[in-house]
Amino acid sequence: MDEFELIARYFSRVGADRPDVALGVGDDAALLRMPADADLAAAVDTIVAGRHFPLDADARSIGHRALAVNLSDLAAMGATPAWATLALTMPNAQADWLERFARGFSDLAYAHGVALVGGDTTAGPLTVSVQVMGHVPRGTALRRDGAHAGDLLVVTGTLGDSGAGLAIATHALSTADATASRELLERFEYPAPRVAFGSAARGLATAAMDLSDGLVGDLPKLAGASGLGARVDVERLPLSRSLQAVARPDQVRDWALAAGDDYELLLAVPPRHLESLTSRAGQLNLRLTVIGELGRGNAVNWMLDGAGFAPTVRGFDHFR
Ligand code: ADP
Ligand code: MG
Repeated sequence: MDEFELIARYFSRVGADRPDVALGVGDDAALLRMPADADLAAAVDTIVAGRHFPLDADARSIGHRALAVNLSDLAAMGATPAWATLALTMPNAQADWLERFARGFSDLAYAHGVALVGGDTTAGPLTVSVQVMGHVPRGTALRRDGAHAGDLLVVTGTLGDSGAGLAIATHALSTADATASRELLERFEYPAPRVAFGSAARGLATAAMDLSDGLVGDLPKLAGASGLGARVDVERLPLSRSLQAVARPDQVRDWALAAGDDYELLLAVPPRHLESLTSRAGQLNLRLTVIGELGRGNAVNWMLDGAGFAPTVRGFDHFR
């Protein structure tokens, strides 16, 4: 199988068939039609074998995650994803690996109405770079810098599950609770980007970001962009039953604070909009939890049961 057969077989018709794709895979560039009065939202993320996922990870999970992490970025902007490009570097072309990779990517793309419109395929150490593009009505995107003092800090879903899932995947954690183990592993291998909720939060939230590097690392970015400080009540962090079943409370707390890869959304919400936002989350079967508040200043104060608390763990940073 040469490069061109490979592209034709696995990547020429991936994801949704969209009328706004004037020209997709096969030419020098894709031609895409933007709706009127929209801002283009574009994000790119790379995942590297042995760094973002275990070397022996299932290719279906790799395909899913490579797209999911980008959809999560668009979700955090309140944007609607439409198109993706894929730069795939791999040591060799194995049909069964490519089959599973393309399936993981394509199933998620299809579920979100995203079309794969181009890419690049090269030989080298396994690295997957995906760019997602989408749109958002002009001027309405959820940026990090829009929060005000007094806005509540809310998060979707539960935190820390993916950290435990990674520990299970890498055999750093073992548990007799097979159901919890399966659920946590699933959260790591197949994260669910909160795309529908991100759009639903436009007009209610004042700022948003997705949690990819852990709350301890990510929250200061949102607070800082908005020129604010924050208080977080650590005992309010939403924890799944599965997470609590597999580890001691201090380990659970560390994962929830800093493990990363949760791909939940962190939003700033004026108190008067909390009820509407909670009901929109409810319609999407998504849990929403208030974990603290933004205020004047520039420090993030972590509190545990009313007392000051210093997280011992820090968010993920490739170069630290
Ligand atoms: P060029 O040399 O012009 O960059 P390529 O030979 O790299 O073209 O790619 C041929 C076509 O296949 C292009 O339309 C490109 O976008 C597409 N393509 C290449 N690799 C992938 C991939 N992994 N996924 C989707 N489309 C791809
Ligand atoms: Mg190329």
